[in-house]
Amino acid sequence: MSRDREDGGVKRRGPAADRRTVSCTPFVLGLDLDGVCADYTGGFRRFVAQDRGVAPETLPDPVDWDWALCGWDIDSRDEYLALHARAVNAGLFRHLEPLPGVSAALWRLSDAGVHIRVITHRLVVNGGHGAAAGDTVAWLERYRIPFRDLCFVADKPQVGADLYLDDSPGNLAAFREAGLAALVFDQPYNRHVPGQRVHDWTAAADAILAVRDAPETARASSTI
Ligand SMILES: [Mg+2]
Repeated sequence: MSRDREDGGVKRRGPAADRRTVSCTPFVLGLDLDGVCADYTGGFRRFVAQDRGVAPETLPDPVDWDWALCGWDIDSRDEYLALHARAVNAGLFRHLEPLPGVSAALWRLSDAGVHIRVITHRLVVNGGHGAAAGDTVAWLERYRIPFRDLCFVADKPQVGADLYLDDSPGNLAAFREAGLAALVFDQPYNRHVPGQRVHDWTAAADAILAVRDAPETARASSTI
């Protein structure tokens, strides 16, 4: 229920009034892409498997953010970034699978007045920025992901939002350190991260709307 709805008063504000209120002060969701909207692991696994001539099943689900600890025979961050850069230039971001239910859930949020601000660190390596940015937009349109802003940035807390949804342990720690509200999108490599956790997009949309509709005082003191 909207915070502006009054029960028992002379005038009860209806849905139209709620929409006007939302449009004046939109609730901004800072939305990560990889590991939240798009199956980065699956796409990167396909690239690495093809590159090495091995079956994708030989590359286990990563259980650590550090690729050198994930059993893929990647020995360093530099080696990972080199592989990632080649994957990006081969169209990685254009061909990722969307996570189940992401489009419908984000349309539900958008229709409810949530302002969706995509915040992604996909320009992590030099070169290939055209492929990364172009393929990102193509992917968002192909899979009908609603968004109003698209930000390519490493330091995500610098980008304003009322609530962030991310899977990266580093980003989630940065949000927490900055006193910003964030939800953890569950992945095997972030199970140690504290905070409210969502396991799928139905739960994510429910949780985001619950935060949006919570009183300001509750949101500010939330343990999210
Ligand atoms: Mg991510």
